Amino acid sequence: MVACPECENDLDIDEDEVDEGEIVSCPECGTDFEIITVNPIELKPVEEEEVEEEEEEEEAEDGDYS
Ligand SMILES: [Zn+2]
Repeated sequence: MVACPECENDLDIDEDEVDEGEIVSCPECGTDFEIITVNPIELKPVEEEEVEEEEEEEEAEDGDYS
């Protein structure tokens, strides 16, 4: 049994069914983990790439349609 390092939810991963480098995600907390080794299963959280999206904040003015 492999527990999610984040929330300790049972990830239900069978070491026979996964490969090193595979990405699994926890259905409970949504964190993605990369499988580092399969025997025993070791998980490493996948670091999310920081996507710098500059959102242009458009000033939405409330249109008063009166
Ligand atoms: Zn989790």
